Amino acid sequence: MDKEMIKTTCLRCLAGCGMQVHVKDGRPVSVAGDPDSVSGQGILCVRGKATLDYVFNEKRLTVPLIREGERGSGRWREATWDEALDLIAASFSRLRDDHGAESVAFIEGGSKGYLDAWLSRFANKFGSPNVTKAAQHCFLPTFLGSKLTYGALTRPDFEHPPECLVVWGANKHETALPEGTRKDMTISEGKTLVVIDPAPTAIARKATEWVRLRPGSDLALALALINVIIEEGLYDATFVRWHCVGFGALKDHVKQYTPSWAEGETGVPAEDIVRVARTYAATRPGAIFSGNGIEHYHTNFQMGRALAILRSLTGSLGAHGGDIFWQRPPLRHNGDPELTAHGELPDDVPDVNYRDDLIPLMPFALHQNLTSAMLEGVPYTVRGAYVMGCNPLLTWPESETVRKAFSSLDFLVVADLFMTPTAALADVVLPVASYLEIDSVHVGEFVPEVRATRSITSVGQARSDYGIFAELASRMGWNGGGPMRTRRSTSCSSLLA
Ligand code: SF4
Repeated sequence: MDKEMIKTTCLRCLAGCGMQVHVKDGRPVSVAGDPDSVSGQGILCVRGKATLDYVFNEKRLTVPLIREGERGSGRWREATWDEALDLIAASFSRLRDDHGAESVAFIEGGSKGYLDAWLSRFANKFGSPNVTKAAQHCFLPTFLGSKLTYGALTRPDFEHPPECLVVWGANKHETALPEGTRKDMTISEGKTLVVIDPAPTAIARKATEWVRLRPGSDLALALALINVIIEEGLYDATFVRWHCVGFGALKDHVKQYTPSWAEGETGVPAEDIVRVARTYAATRPGAIFSGNGIEHYHTNFQMGRALAILRSLTGSLGAHGGDIFWQRPPLRHNGDPELTAHGELPDDVPDVNYRDDLIPLMPFALHQNLTSAMLEGVPYTVRGAYVMGCNPLLTWPESETVRKAFSSLDFLVVADLFMTPTAALADVVLPVASYLEIDSVHVGEFVPEVRATRSITSVGQARSDYGIFAELASRMGWNGGGPMRTRRSTSCSSLLA
């Protein structure tokens, strides 16, 4: 039988590149980039190309498992879905009745798009404010820094390549190739490319100027750039006069952050810092593209603000070929309060972030606060957790503390494709479907594209996260009827904003 080609979307990361899956005798046999995709432009990165190895990997979980031996002993028995889901519903209900709904945390990793909404929806309906994801060290600090400075997140205007592109702590050529190729437009057109990164990344090797700073010293460098731009009068005075507030206070504040001070902090020679500041300020419109490299340090929020200030000082903000405000396609966001049933969450139970000295901006429970709650009962004890598509033992700070915290739980559920170190500690492990096994919708984060994800194949008894939550909701008595009929599809209704 001839091969059939099915268009879908790669969801190994948020880029959501268009993918063509070739199917023979009902089984996917090869994948390729979809040239019609705005995001992927016909390209798949190495992870996208490895889709079939990932989906049909022999280590995939294929049936629900229930712990038999000591926690973490690796002794399991296979269970039916009904048995596993009944056990989860009963255990979470018992924790809620005995210790309050906040004693159960709902944890996920990188975004799964609209599937995220169902985890939050379940948690809100359950009554627990303790939902968390990777946002605190991935994206949210920069986003909040931008939002507090000028109201929204910006991105470079790649459709009109900036005269000067600053790539700061981002390695998209090796982690999200399609986003990297957009920057190649800047390179191929001979524009100025400044790369700020401790590592010799692929794009660093192509840069006009590679600033190799000490890891974690990004904020010091940003403050020194602001210092030079202000002290040398290189800022866009008209833009500052008409669109900025607090310039005088900023000028006074950054006087102390001289290039020679920053040299001691960053290891970058002062004359290089001055040269980069002059280049960025003089080569307009400029744009700054930052990545996870700046998000993993305690300075991440202030770093987001510093980058927003740099964009504003040089008048690149909102400029053609500068840093532009981006409007997502008009579909509901996966955090939309209506999708997540936020109104169902009681407002008298604080999450574990509750402390008088924290600004209540972070919409998710901080990881370090969750582990404190598990281990020390501060501000109260978290006794159960549902972990969806993430591996806190390897990705949260202080792995040994995290291992002790998850080992201390009364009841732990992990829903994943593989037996991760976190899953190895669970009471119940659920096999989850990959992006070739679900129907869903993907909204481009920084491109005007909405794509379908198609259920093309199935592996063992794996189910979609949505299907699992629907079944659990039914067992909690929230669906007003029997189990949801669909096993592998997410609900695409009501997504229009
Ligand atoms: S960048 Fe790679 S992993 Fe991410 S969606 Fe595109 S092909 Fe998939």
